[in-house]
Amino acid sequence: MNNIEKIKNKILKGERLLKKDGIFLLKSNDLLSMGRLADAENQKRSKNKVFFNINCHVNITNICVAKCSFCAFSCDKGDSRAYEMSLEDIINKIRSSLNAGITEVHIVSGLHPDKPFDFYLKVIKEINCEFPSIHIKAFTPVEIKYFSNISGLSIKDVLVRLKDAGLGSMPGGGAEVLSRRVRKEVCPEKATADDWLDIMETAHLLGLKSNATLLYGHIETEEEIINHLLSLRDLQDKTGGFQTFIPLPFHPDNTGIDQVNKPTAFEQLRIFALSRLMLDNFEHIKAYWVMTGLKNAQLAIHFGADDIDGTVVDEKITHAAGADTAEGLTVGKLTSLIKSAGKIPVQRDTLYNIIKTY
Ligand code: SF4
Repeated sequence: MNNIEKIKNKILKGERLLKKDGIFLLKSNDLLSMGRLADAENQKRSKNKVFFNINCHVNITNICVAKCSFCAFSCDKGDSRAYEMSLEDIINKIRSSLNAGITEVHIVSGLHPDKPFDFYLKVIKEINCEFPSIHIKAFTPVEIKYFSNISGLSIKDVLVRLKDAGLGSMPGGGAEVLSRRVRKEVCPEKATADDWLDIMETAHLLGLKSNATLLYGHIETEEEIINHLLSLRDLQDKTGGFQTFIPLPFHPDNTGIDQVNKPTAFEQLRIFALSRLMLDNFEHIKAYWVMTGLKNAQLAIHFGADDIDGTVVDEKITHAAGADTAEGLTVGKLTSLIKSAGKIPVQRDTLYNIIKTY
């Protein structure tokens, strides 16, 4: 029996995959076998459904005090690219997306040197007051840690205040690779791997659901990718607070790590299948088409992904790193993409309640 068959038998017996299984899969070129196994896992969970939501992205500012070498989005105050949105800009932007039928606003931003935590609280309160039916998914653990630093409040107090103001859940960004070595090299000035996991745990215990990401294809090793997945799986065992896992292929253009190549389609699909097989306690795996490209996102739904994010009106962060995808997608285009891959498009809200099956 070869190794992929051994892994298949383990999965059939309901046994959890180990680190060595993950390393084997990450090195495997038997992509089609991995895809079949991953798709079978999805059949157990979502059947043929592929979820999407209608959302808009708000990136309040690109001014950031951290200097992550993989980031093409951030800049210093005074830079010709620098921008910051006022509260009024934010409200107007969301209002202009209402016609598209958004049910969610997704907010992530740079770590601004001057804005106090109260500004961000006000943003959440105001959005909640103006658009009470829209779910606010905002602030990665990196931002939460920064708010704690600038306000002097504990992580828990920051989260409680944001939740009281109307925060509904958290995105999964800022995880990059949960490895001390990698973070020391590529993002030494922001929340550590332990911070990221602790903040997610605190958020989950407060009843805030979140997502989780992996940014791969830069300086990480295979072992570091698997350790990242195992850390997420362990925390999910503890809290059950993660909704979906989103593997993000690194876009090198305009970053400080531009000597590497963007992960190929083969590598991207292998990571999708690997994630679906290792993260047995995650309900969903999402293809973020802005970073994978639309074609790979469509293929990914046969390799372990059961969610394509989303209509994403006006994305800024990945486009700063040279993404050649559109900055938004219509529902018609998204649903026909899913249907033409033989799956059933299902519009969901942020918490995976079904809104409409197409
Ligand atoms: S990744 Fe986030 S924290 Fe790092 S430089 Fe970019 S905006 Fe700032």
